Amino acid sequence: MNEAETVFTHLLACDRASLYLKRHTRLSAASARRLAAVLRRRIAGEPLDYILGSSEFMGLLFRVTPDVLIPRQDTEVLVETVLRLARRFHHNSRQSSSRDPARLDILDLGTGSGAIAVSLAHMLPVSRLLATDSSLPALRIAQENARRHAVDGRIEFRQCDLFPGGKDCRRRFQIIVSNPPYIPSRTVATLAPEVQAEPRRALDGGPDGLAFFRRIAQKAPLFLRPAGLLILEMGFDQKDRVQEIVLNQKKFLIKEVVKDYNSIQRVMVAQLRGRTSA
Ligand code: GLN
Repeated sequence: MNEAETVFTHLLACDRASLYLKRHTRLSAASARRLAAVLRRRIAGEPLDYILGSSEFMGLLFRVTPDVLIPRQDTEVLVETVLRLARRFHHNSRQSSSRDPARLDILDLGTGSGAIAVSLAHMLPVSRLLATDSSLPALRIAQENARRHAVDGRIEFRQCDLFPGGKDCRRRFQIIVSNPPYIPSRTVATLAPEVQAEPRRALDGGPDGLAFFRRIAQKAPLFLRPAGLLILEMGFDQKDRVQEIVLNQKKFLIKEVVKDYNSIQRVMVAQLRGRTSA
């Protein structure tokens, strides 16, 4: 939907198709006042999703506030890649001897609004997720989104900087997924005002934009099962450097690089070397 459609479907509480069926409807005075208030904020540069308090991702509605990054369409490619590979994983593991072969354990690093973790839990009924974020306000939003989509029983949330500590250190996952901050610090100030209204800590990937990839690649082997998958979203020009960072660990094979809808190499899939194959 374009922004005008989003505003009117929200205001009239209807879907896109009924919007066009109702096109001769006169707005009530109250709706017109609400519309004017939305437009004033939008003209001042606030992102529409923050004004309306919600964002659509993977066909689901998520609550968003300025405490969380607004889910991007590019990130749907990340989720779709996890879904495709998780199904294959699940299929292969049915022959395995593990106690609960149906269960799929996924770790989501830097969950933000929870868009990735909640969509995965929603679409993979056998999955169990651990979702982390360094921001407590973000985790509150993520938890609310998990409740909204009735998957809060299958997602645990932890406040930590990337990987969890304590008892969780002993946990091993089939899949680690992350859309980490990956914009170089200097570039953040040059982005559109809408993007700058988003939390800087969700965007800023350090001097070269790659700081989080280094930390994730280094520690991920400790949290993955043999042949487990590390699935990462990256910036438009980062594929070669992310690949080098991951391969430098000497523990991963690059399985594939997936392009987004603009043909940009957006998602990297690496597999931990191990006994079983996925
Ligand atoms: N893709 C986002 C943007 O271009 C950046 C998200 C991120 O840093 N992970 O605004």
